[in-house]
Amino acid sequence: MLQGIEVYCEQYGIYGKIDTFDTKKNLLTERKKKIKVIYDGYIFQLYAQYFCLKEMGYKVDKLKLYSMDDNKSYPIELPENDLEMLGKFETLIDSLKNFSLDSEFLPNINKCRNCIYRNLCDYSLC
Ligand code: SF4
Repeated sequence: MLQGIEVYCEQYGIYGKIDTFDTKKNLLTERKKKIKVIYDGYIFQLYAQYFCLKEMGYKVDKLKLYSMDDNKSYPIELPENDLEMLGKFETLIDSLKNFSLDSEFLPNINKCRNCIYRNLCDYSLC
């Protein structure tokens, strides 16, 4: 079981740490305290880890979100089997790469409510 290892993907220019990867089951899992809604961002987190691991030579067959408080698992399709989500992921990566601090920013109160940075953030709506 690999946990918290640093990973990098040249194709998308992203790096970070994975959550947990079971090398026997080839299963990549992203744990959350409690999942009430499967946000696109959760899936993109898995995709980012997936592409990094693959590029680093690991075989990843399955993706899963895991909600710890209620012990629920949510299997997620591999990106190549969900081209709509893959397209959204790539669009997001492009927009992050082309982000300008001068561009207009409109916060979303639903995101601010759950944001761990809200006490530090000048844009927070909460
Ligand atoms: S608190 Fe700030 S960083 Fe967090 S979601 Fe709101 S605007 Fe974004």
